[in-house]
Amino acid sequence: MLEGIVTWAEIDLDAVEFNVRAFKRHVGERVEVFAVVKANAYGHGAIPVARAVLEAGATRLAVHRAIEGVELRCAAPGVTAPILVMGYTPPSGAAMVVRHNLTPSVMTREFVEAVSAEASRAGKVIPVHVKVDTGMSRYGLMPGEVVDFCRAVSTLPGIRLEGLFTHFATADAASLTHTLWQLETFRRVMAAVESAGIHIPLCHAANSAATMKLTDTHLDAVRPGIALYGMNPSDEWPPTFEIRPALTLKSRVSRVRVLPPGAGISYGRTFVTDRETPVALVPLGYGDGYHRALSNKGSVLIRGQRAPIRGCVCMDQFVVDITGIKDVQQDDEVVIVGRQGQAEMRAEEVAQLAGTINYEVTTSILPRVARAYRRGGQVVGVTALGGE
Ligand SMILES: *Cc1c(COP(=O)(O)O)cnc(C)c1O
Repeated sequence: MLEGIVTWAEIDLDAVEFNVRAFKRHVGERVEVFAVVKANAYGHGAIPVARAVLEAGATRLAVHRAIEGVELRCAAPGVTAPILVMGYTPPSGAAMVVRHNLTPSVMTREFVEAVSAEASRAGKVIPVHVKVDTGMSRYGLMPGEVVDFCRAVSTLPGIRLEGLFTHFATADAASLTHTLWQLETFRRVMAAVESAGIHIPLCHAANSAATMKLTDTHLDAVRPGIALYGMNPSDEWPPTFEIRPALTLKSRVSRVRVLPPGAGISYGRTFVTDRETPVALVPLGYGDGYHRALSNKGSVLIRGQRAPIRGCVCMDQFVVDITGIKDVQQDDEVVIVGRQGQAEMRAEEVAQLAGTINYEVTTSILPRVARAYRRGGQVVGVTALGGE
């Protein structure tokens, strides 16, 4: 199925499912797992990943924007599990939310009233989750505003107050002080709402890092993202249980040659050979989401060995030094992120070299890079530029 494709990402759906099951085991039967599949499932492909996580026992999906929920609903066949929209939806998005049975997060009267009106018109009841800002200074009501807001929401027709949630700013850090403080604040809000006679069945707070590190944050549900893809939520501590990387970014050598001494490589001649240098050309660049910051810094794997990037990463290609790697041929497989034989280049390492975090490495992978989905080692589907 990969004929004619030079640059692609392989997504191991078995690894994704393994990771979901690891989370389910870790949180136990009474806690729901909402799988976060925002930003095209962190670059892994929202639709196939959504199906896999639900198959493995996640009970709901979470995205940032309503339009991401619409994409999942419009897949063939459509995804039917509840989809939480964690970010802002403008009042003009109420019809979209109702039409596609999404679960919006709410923090303003205008929006929740617009949803209520649309839902009543459609004869539906739309569940909503109230977002609380406990210490991140982004989206969400201030703790002191929550009780009054929940009271107002509970009286609206066509609306069911189903959830209350917050998000941690530093759950990945070695020190849990700020997370514990946020949790304490959130628990006070939960108690205040309950004392006002309002029962909210789903209170949730934990991302991957908090779920792994602090079981007190599990509450009624957890919202892991990054770790479902087998990437470490923290660069300060290792995962607390085994997770498996799901993504391998691959390409093929498009040319092999030996450069003479004094040859400038790529735009700006930022690298000039000081000896005869065997090099290979790799057809991947920032037009595929590979960071230009990796110019003269990154490495790739060819024949199970590391080949360092020489010169600039261009929009479509870059050059690597293959000194000491035997028998490199045009069309040889190149691994940019992932394993090849005994060698490994993890997203975490690429991130460090590019001056960013693992989240950004996979989320940056653009639609020009085909996605090949694997189950039981076999490719079961390929998507390229939005088509199958
Ligand atoms: C992205 C996000 C998550 C998932 O975070 P990870 O660190 O990827 O586990 C959870 N909750 C909210 C509100 C988010 O925006």
